[in-house]
Amino acid sequence: MISAVLKLPQNQKEFSLIKKIVKADISAIDKDKFWRTPKNAASFDYVEIGKTSDSNYSKEIISFFDKDGNLFCRTFRENGKNVKQRQYRYQDDKRFLTDFVFDTTRIKEKVNDAMYNLGGVWKKIAEETQWISRIQEWAKDGKVPTDFHTRHVDYHPETGLIDTITLTQYPINCEKSRLPKRFVKGEFKHILGTPTLAKATYSKNLRLDPNDKYLRYRFFDLHTPEGITVLTKGLLEEKGLDVLKISVQPNSLKIEEGNLGFFCALSKEICFSEKLTQKDAFLPDIIDSVAHEVEHAEQFAYIGRRGKGTSQYEFDAYKNLGELRTEEEKQEALKYFMAKTEYVPTGDKYKNNYLEVKAREAGKKAAEDFQFPIENYNFFERFN
Ligand SMILES: [Zn+2]
Repeated sequence: MISAVLKLPQNQKEFSLIKKIVKADISAIDKDKFWRTPKNAASFDYVEIGKTSDSNYSKEIISFFDKDGNLFCRTFRENGKNVKQRQYRYQDDKRFLTDFVFDTTRIKEKVNDAMYNLGGVWKKIAEETQWISRIQEWAKDGKVPTDFHTRHVDYHPETGLIDTITLTQYPINCEKSRLPKRFVKGEFKHILGTPTLAKATYSKNLRLDPNDKYLRYRFFDLHTPEGITVLTKGLLEEKGLDVLKISVQPNSLKIEEGNLGFFCALSKEICFSEKLTQKDAFLPDIIDSVAHEVEHAEQFAYIGRRGKGTSQYEFDAYKNLGELRTEEEKQEALKYFMAKTEYVPTGDKYKNNYLEVKAREAGKKAAEDFQFPIENYNFFERFN
């Protein structure tokens, strides 16, 4: 599968142009067909190529352009399957391929219930994502080291909840030396609803720190709505706020221009911008945003627990979590309450508002902490 993806057609005459669309508005795109249509695409080109000797063969290339007409992404399809997405970036008027080329094939094993219990033995429901990363700098030296990655998720056959996630990195095509694969397998439990890591096993050639407090989240692709939800709910659980049933909305349409997220006590929700699920979003920025909003959720719970609440969320916090215990917590809650009465949504007053100052601190600290242990960060980052 890897070589088939990378091999280029030997004889160009064998191929013929079937269809071509140039600079069409992005609204005209077939969204079901083109997986991962980039959010900031304004227009696209489309080319379909056939093979004279094989009527079943098809190759489709779609090029995405931003509002300024710059090519920034291409998706390649072969025989009706999305096989590769390539991203471009610009610097000093020059165009570069981004560091990574994604060659992704999704293999989904869908099992229907009737077929499922064959012979009285439950089979597994699994999903595997496979992709290849090529590092451009190495390629320039004439070497083409390529990593083949898989994320394999096993679901519990009866509950449909995640059982295990195995991330494997297969180093391939390294000219002389063939390095052994590296993997980590996480076994998950669902105690409070979000997957909790029960056990992690990993290959000897991987020096992971098993005590990393973010380990349970690193198994997920945090650039996805699912990943952001797991992270947010997990951090809420860690603060004991899961009882307040806050709804988490990734890719929310309620986000205003320039914002990445918000917590709202009235609607009991945390919403995030679709910017966080873009492939090029920087991981620590995602952590920062999530930890920031979770901090706001805790601040309002404090206000409620100090008896100063005005929303159902704050009343619920008092009811479910009780009064604050220490004098320090009570003082902090009063500061939050004062800041809440003075809250304005923009400007310097917003920036210096105590609620924002403390949430920014929490976000920044989480983002910094997330980048350590460095071995953990580096390994899992490849799978995001
Ligand atoms: Zn904020």
